[in-house]
Amino acid sequence: MSQNPIPVLIVGSGAAGSMLALELARFGVDYRCVDRLPAPSRYSRAVTVHARTLEMLERIDTSLIDRFLKRGVHSPGYVMHFIDGTGARSEVRPGLDFTQLTSSRYPLLLLHSQDETEAHLRNVLQEKYGRTAEWGVTCTSVVQQADGVLATLQHADGREEQVQCRYLVAADGGNSRIREQLDWQKDGTDYASTVLQNLDVYLHDFPDHKQWVHYCMGPGHFVMVVQLPGGYFRLLMSQPADKADAAEVPQKVFSDILAQHFEGIRLGDTVWHSRWGSRIHLANSYRQGNVFLAGDAAHVHSTAGGQGMNCCMQDAYNLGWKLAYVLQGLAPATLLDTYDSERKPIGSQVIAAASTIHELFMAGRNSDPAALLALQASGKLQALVGQVSGLDYHYRAAGDDKPGLQAGDRMPDLQLPQGRLYELSRHPCFTLLLVSQAVTSPAQYAQLEALVQRNPHALQLLALDKAPAQFLQDSDARLYLIRPDGYLALQVPASDLESLEHWCQAHLLL
Ligand SMILES: Cc1cc2nc3c(=O)[nH]c(=O)nc-3n(C[C@H](O)[C@H](O)[C@H](O)COP(=O)(O)OP(=O)(O)OC[C@H]3O[C@@H](n4cnc5c(N)ncnc54)[C@H](O)[C@@H]3O)c2cc1C
Repeated sequence: MSQNPIPVLIVGSGAAGSMLALELARFGVDYRCVDRLPAPSRYSRAVTVHARTLEMLERIDTSLIDRFLKRGVHSPGYVMHFIDGTGARSEVRPGLDFTQLTSSRYPLLLLHSQDETEAHLRNVLQEKYGRTAEWGVTCTSVVQQADGVLATLQHADGREEQVQCRYLVAADGGNSRIREQLDWQKDGTDYASTVLQNLDVYLHDFPDHKQWVHYCMGPGHFVMVVQLPGGYFRLLMSQPADKADAAEVPQKVFSDILAQHFEGIRLGDTVWHSRWGSRIHLANSYRQGNVFLAGDAAHVHSTAGGQGMNCCMQDAYNLGWKLAYVLQGLAPATLLDTYDSERKPIGSQVIAAASTIHELFMAGRNSDPAALLALQASGKLQALVGQVSGLDYHYRAAGDDKPGLQAGDRMPDLQLPQGRLYELSRHPCFTLLLVSQAVTSPAQYAQLEALVQRNPHALQLLALDKAPAQFLQDSDARLYLIRPDGYLALQVPASDLESLEHWCQAHLLL
């Protein structure tokens, strides 16, 4: 390893790579981010930004969340349209209801193009930190070294460059070359029976409400209709492989199916058409030595439920502060192992939720509103909404089903006398929330202050005079240690400062 390796090399400036670059810049960590494309893609694959991602964007930067909320279409959820063999239509509205996500400030589904999602991240990165990705640069080889990684970069003009870095993050997409080169094992299957195609198109005389996601199902067909900012629509079709005919003109196939569901609808100009086979894979580990996988490089699944890009961005959000803390000497290198132990189980749950929605709706077998209503009545569909929104995913230890807020839980946004918790904890430190100072002895409080003062780069104290109404109604004072990414690291009675000190000594270099 040379004297001055770059701390982090990010390969890929898609959703995962751009998010990681923004996080590293926000934490003051130097990095390079390269992408083999000559310029950012102008096409959108993902069209949904979920509640947990919106919370994450808000925690990062207010100007970031404002851009999303202003540009995106605010959708209440999905309507399921059915047509039976006789041509009779019925619907379930809402089929998936995102307005019930009341634990979040964002009880909605934001319809927003992926190219614009990535552009917002890159624009904030450039405006606030003066950083840009290096386009037209391909990572062609990666070699693990004792305490770092040696990467070879090929520039657009043919120049080859050797780069040494402490850590390399492969955010290079589903066909990750780095994953293949390092012979990384992954579990996978193909939805061999499913071919997907999208047609981004203007629609004339769409007779229904444009803010819903419309799932249209009938004998042997599935088409999704979603309006995007800019006024055009994403049409997505899922077909059994043996029925999919590549020679068919997509405009005609989509038009024929939509005409069965919507009176008078007409297709206008096409923006983009693409066709692909659905598949699943999950890397058997998210880390090998000093190389990490993030985003689609680690997990790929059906687009059903629109979780993919959200999960990719949240991988990066989980990894960013950990890399920063280790590189800045605020935490031991073992913190980086928790990226795999936390994010791989989430990858697995995301795959399960996407596969369930895929099988329920997109596999072309379901044209029965009664079955859907039964699922709705059982609460199973609402549980799926909690998952795909990202709000119900957590990092609790396996088997921990204790009630109330526990370590690993997403910390909700509380209205506090000083302001909202998410606003007050928008900093690169752990937040030590004391609820409440009124029932804490002066000696305990002084001890807490001393702990924080010894560690100003890692800890910030937020003391409440009294417990907010919606919080735990505990007569004892409690301490909530909230990680920089908004998940709870620890909660203990304020009298148990020993446990807090012990946790800090084990997990932070104080
Ligand atoms: C049609 C479709 C619809 C979808 N809809 C949704 C949705 O509604 N919601 C949702 O959340 N997700 C959705 N997804 C999934 C989502 O698009 C992906 O999960 C997401 O784009 C993955 O982001 P990423 O950054 O991991 O990878 P990518 O976006 O694939 O980015 C990888 C980047 O790495 C670069 N790269 C690759 N190899 C190299 C190399 N060797 N050197 C340098 N650069 C390299 C590539 O050029 C690329 O820019 C959809 C996907 C598809 C196909």
